[in-house]
Amino acid sequence: MTARRPRSTRDAILRGLARKARLIDAHTHVGIDPAQYARGDYPYGLSGEDLSLRLTAQGIDAAVCFPMVYSSYFRFRAFCHGRFVRDPGGTSAFPYEAENTGLCREIYEAFSGLAGRLLPFAFFDPARRPAEQAAFLRDLAVRYPLFGLKTATSYIQSDPRTMLKGGACLLDLAAELDVPLAIHTAVHPADPWADVFAMLEVVRARPDVRFDLAHTCRFDRRALDAAAGLENCWVDLSAFHIHCTLACRNHESVAAERHRFPADYRRHAAAMRKIADTYPDTVMWGTDTPYHLFKSRFHDARGRVRRLDLACGPLTEITEFRKLPGALRTRIGFDNTLRWLGGRQ
Ligand SMILES: [Zn+2]
Repeated sequence: MTARRPRSTRDAILRGLARKARLIDAHTHVGIDPAQYARGDYPYGLSGEDLSLRLTAQGIDAAVCFPMVYSSYFRFRAFCHGRFVRDPGGTSAFPYEAENTGLCREIYEAFSGLAGRLLPFAFFDPARRPAEQAAFLRDLAVRYPLFGLKTATSYIQSDPRTMLKGGACLLDLAAELDVPLAIHTAVHPADPWADVFAMLEVVRARPDVRFDLAHTCRFDRRALDAAAGLENCWVDLSAFHIHCTLACRNHESVAAERHRFPADYRRHAAAMRKIADTYPDTVMWGTDTPYHLFKSRFHDARGRVRRLDLACGPLTEITEFRKLPGALRTRIGFDNTLRWLGGRQ
């Protein structure tokens, strides 16, 4: 489907989902991350065709999908070592130019059977060349049905508050196109770039944009309460299983126990049900495929090799989700997600 009128095609896809679908995954990725691969980390890639096979096997009707984290805007070797500098010889003149174009081409041209099943969101970096990104994405949305925008500021070390300053043009674009925004969040003290409370400031400042704060706000009860109190804020449950593992380990990547939403995180489905029952209009089910698992080898400050091994089976997220009562599944796996995607429709 090379849509001549992408916006009306997008609306038609959403109307079709409203009529026929039952389950939408609100958070997946399609593409490759050569930096992850070079470092020996997993996952490092997933094609649209592979994601589609996973959806079919799991009985999921459609999936919101983002590119992966690396952009060819950055110098590759420096990026692999956590330094983020422009590569003047790269294939992107601004962040995510090549990756966003590639995602749309894959879905709407190379494998057009994926159209309507994979709902592409464009990645953006609020801090680097935002005006060029906004102009490019406005044009991309004329060429292809685009369902939203996504940023993961942790991995490119961008200050989230730039979304209210120079990067505000990207939020203006989301409002203009009437598409939602998905935002990676963090509570880790060493990750100020995606601090969930800074993200909530952005959400409060822009009532004209619909937001999704990803990863269950890292189970921070204060953040979940705040999100539930905002009409333009949703929260996705992506990578729930490995976040339960982190909670069981009292890892700093999830909220400290005194701030953590109280649940038995040894029991995935029970913890998810309690959160969904508490915030029934706010949470959306999503897997983060292929980031439902995360395995990384890295050097610590003393130069020692450290390993982070967060395992999750390919069917764990869907199997645990199906343990929830049917009405709750419909609510968090479909109704809330469609409201976030479709807004006023
Ligand atoms: Zn993700």
